[in-house]
Amino acid sequence: MKRQELDSINQLYRGKLQKHFNGEVPLVFGDGNIDSRIVLVGEAPGRTEIEQGKPFVGQAGKNLEEFISILGIKREELYITNVVKFRPVKFNPETGRESNRTPVKDEISISKDFIEQELSIIAPKLVVSLGNTALRCILKDDKASIGIFHGNPLNVSFSKAYFTLFPLYHPASIIYRRELKSTYIEDLHKLKEYINLSKGSQ
Ligand code: URA
Repeated sequence: MKRQELDSINQLYRGKLQKHFNGEVPLVFGDGNIDSRIVLVGEAPGRTEIEQGKPFVGQAGKNLEEFISILGIKREELYITNVVKFRPVKFNPETGRESNRTPVKDEISISKDFIEQELSIIAPKLVVSLGNTALRCILKDDKASIGIFHGNPLNVSFSKAYFTLFPLYHPASIIYRRELKSTYIEDLHKLKEYINLSKGSQ
């Protein structure tokens, strides 16, 4: 049932983007356990994710694995998705190469309905947002900042989904901002404690 519903919204998203971009764009949809109580929401797929058709693989996947191992959870137990399902790119005229970039407002607004529907279908108890894009999209607040919200759970209603949101820094941001590493590890321990406590209260 959930699978069919997800497939159907994914097809709608594909069609909408095809119109928007005037042609087919490669997409990476959510992956993992659709009955999971915990969902991870990232920003958008990068080059490796597009090649492999799966979110958080390659270097981003390695960073994520480290984080999941602190939680004592296996990747397969979770459902992992992104706000934007296509790869936002910037072109460097000097190298002639494309590289990943943060999605812009329009790219997020064209994707917003779909992440709302996706979370309503999965119906998780806990959503872990990774970085500013996911945080802002879920809080519907462009000014929200991960520097303020990180590590503090809050109850949210997001379209037809109601869950606890646990905002974390994006695992990639720790690579280029080493000074965040200890805060990030602290937040992960808080998240682990939160998960264990909510298991106990069921
Ligand atoms: N890969 C993803 O799938 N999402 C991100 O946010 C970053 C890398």
